[in-house]
Amino acid sequence: MIPYGKQDITQADIDAVVNVLQSDFLTQGPMVPRFEELVAAHVDAKHAVAVNSATSALHIACMALGLGEGDWLWTSPVTFVASANCGLYCGAKVDFVDIDPKTYDLCPVELEAKLKQAKIDNRLPKVVVPVHLCGQPCDMAAISKLAQEYGFKIIEDASHAIGGKYKGEFIGNGRYSDITVFSFHPVKIVTTAEGGMAMTNSADLAEKMNLHRSHGITRDPHLMTHAPDGPWYYQQIALGYNYRMTELQAALGVSQMERLDAYVTRRHELAKRYDQLLADLPLTLPWQHPNSYSGLHLYVIRLQLENTNLSHLDVFEALREQGIGVNLHYIPVHIQPYFREMGFSENDFPQSMAYYRDAISLPMFQGLTNEQQDTVVAVLTEILSSQP
Ligand SMILES: *Cc1c(COP(=O)(O)O)cnc(C)c1O
Repeated sequence: MIPYGKQDITQADIDAVVNVLQSDFLTQGPMVPRFEELVAAHVDAKHAVAVNSATSALHIACMALGLGEGDWLWTSPVTFVASANCGLYCGAKVDFVDIDPKTYDLCPVELEAKLKQAKIDNRLPKVVVPVHLCGQPCDMAAISKLAQEYGFKIIEDASHAIGGKYKGEFIGNGRYSDITVFSFHPVKIVTTAEGGMAMTNSADLAEKMNLHRSHGITRDPHLMTHAPDGPWYYQQIALGYNYRMTELQAALGVSQMERLDAYVTRRHELAKRYDQLLADLPLTLPWQHPNSYSGLHLYVIRLQLENTNLSHLDVFEALREQGIGVNLHYIPVHIQPYFREMGFSENDFPQSMAYYRDAISLPMFQGLTNEQQDTVVAVLTEILSSQP
């Protein structure tokens, strides 16, 4: 089976992790700060807070922005559930904004229309989470303009997008948002096995996220309400969690970051090959906005079902049967039974549902060879030219 995504692990990665195992610190040592500094320098952000997953990063980002009961968080329906769940963790309510039919990212025109209505209804969001789907950045200039006008905060879910650029600058530099979150799950562009990071230019937000990732405990006397009893003293000043990243994970991340640019370059080569090799099939290929340089975490094709007698399920199953490990990113979050119970229905976000009915993620990862890619193309071509 050729998977849709797979980590790339070198001997240098293995050595880096083994070195940590033989060192004094397995957690809370020098490697996590080093990884944070490295990513912050790479994307040009002032602060970075590494945690054990992007899900945790989204949660502490919402906490730092003061999201709570009675507040609203809006995101895109076409995302992993974590982009919405972070709002629920904080006791907030979640709503969605439909996607742009060309980029598959949260649509700024839909966002503005929804904000206008929400203002009248007095239910404006406190936080909006644009998701850079497949690595393609959202229209951040437009979203950030709306944030100024309507007073919401922005968390970029850049789980797919490390190494990508928006208007020539690395995603994560915070020019158009309050916080940006990266994921280091093994299917993503850079991995730490499990892991995530929150980037911000605000010292205050960084301090809050730092506190929330480690029990809400501080050793900084300036933050305490009680004078230290002695050198052992720490004080819990908020209810935090244990979301810390280990030294092993950070060492892997530091080692992987050396290859980030090469990773994204290879993904672009593969995407270009797919674009050429699939051009004549009844498919809609990924459209890249001229303002963006995608991280290209995913290569999503859409079947032109009106031009074939096959169903989405037929094509998907045939690909899997012939060893192509395709996937579907994502089931729109609002149709998950857990979210439907909050009152959402299939008809709420038509572009997201249309996407769900014909999208397929083809294999796209660092180690995918041209030969394997040719196999993917040959199998797909064969399936689409067969009649049921
Ligand atoms: C993978 C992913 C997450 C969650 O990342 P974890 O590191 O697995 O917690 C969140 N949002 C999006 C869009 C993702 O793809």
